[in-house]
Amino acid sequence: MSFNLNNVLRENIKNLVPYSSARDEFKGEASVYLDANENSYGSPLAESYNRYPDPLQLTLKQKISSIKGVPPRNIFLGNGSDEAIDILFRAFCRPGVDNVITVPPTYGMYEVSANINDVAIRKVHLTPDYQLNMEAIAEAIDQNTKMIFICSPNNPTGNSIDREDVETILANFNGIVVIDEAYINYSRQKTFIQELTEYSNLVVLQTLSKAWGLAGLRIGMAFASEEIIEVFNKVKAPYNVNEASQKLALEALNNIEQVNSWIKETVAEREKLVAELAKLPVVQKIYPSDANFILVKTTNARAIYNHLVKQGIIVRDRSKVELCEGSLRITVGTPEENKKLVEALENFS
Ligand SMILES: *Cc1c(COP(=O)(O)O)cnc(C)c1O
Repeated sequence: MSFNLNNVLRENIKNLVPYSSARDEFKGEASVYLDANENSYGSPLAESYNRYPDPLQLTLKQKISSIKGVPPRNIFLGNGSDEAIDILFRAFCRPGVDNVITVPPTYGMYEVSANINDVAIRKVHLTPDYQLNMEAIAEAIDQNTKMIFICSPNNPTGNSIDREDVETILANFNGIVVIDEAYINYSRQKTFIQELTEYSNLVVLQTLSKAWGLAGLRIGMAFASEEIIEVFNKVKAPYNVNEASQKLALEALNNIEQVNSWIKETVAEREKLVAELAKLPVVQKIYPSDANFILVKTTNARAIYNHLVKQGIIVRDRSKVELCEGSLRITVGTPEENKKLVEALENFS
């Protein structure tokens, strides 16, 4: 395979001299810090936030490294995965020239981020069983195709993408292959993180927003080769993950048992919910899910959605999405929440 990072990187990024912060220029310990124009007197809070945070979040990365088994130099942390997605576009895609491939129905941010960056999208729809259309993907690639986005388990369909197909793309595509694993903790499939040493064009996205229960902290993770992580670090805002989020995430990552037990419970609840929904006359099809949500094809999605809203229950109406016609995307709730949902659906007529 002939992937070469220098062939895909934009020229301006290759030549970029990144911003050098006070914290970049002096890294040791000192007793008097007069280098960053911070408020030397403190902050009007119980905990002090008057100092800029670690720009590279080393302590947090070391913790993540011990959980994921990936060295800190192969980890980028961002203000949500969405920051990582945006940086990928800015680093690799020339506006108005390059293109990327997405495989809808899938996560909406790839397209939004492409549009913001004026990068063309080539949409290669999934097959009716929500797998990659490998021939069509091969046809869609040209010399300006810089990235392919694959979400697995996929949002909103919930299924995992066949691993062999992903590996075929990794081995043959000379651009960046982004595998978004936001829901990997709920999946029976193993993560692609283990393949980082095998494929230098691989970027794996994960997040603390879903299974880790920290959507409010905004911490997304990208795992990739050291060279790609260096590009992320060059392009990112200097202090992209704030101090409060770094501290709280570090604390949360110690509670891995709690998170693992929620994952087990969520998966068990998902299977229970599937069994309950399958009995309902309004439900036409339940797609297999490897995530903490299920895509459910119904007889009348909009009316059912409105009926649920009236009972104070909000699901996601995906019925206007191509290949998801008639479908609602339902997050697995607590046992009580799921019970309310099923009862409300039983009362729909
Ligand atoms: C929820 C979700 C994310 C998470 O994004 P954050 O910015 O990290 O909160 C990423 N990708 C997919 C497919 C998602 O569904």
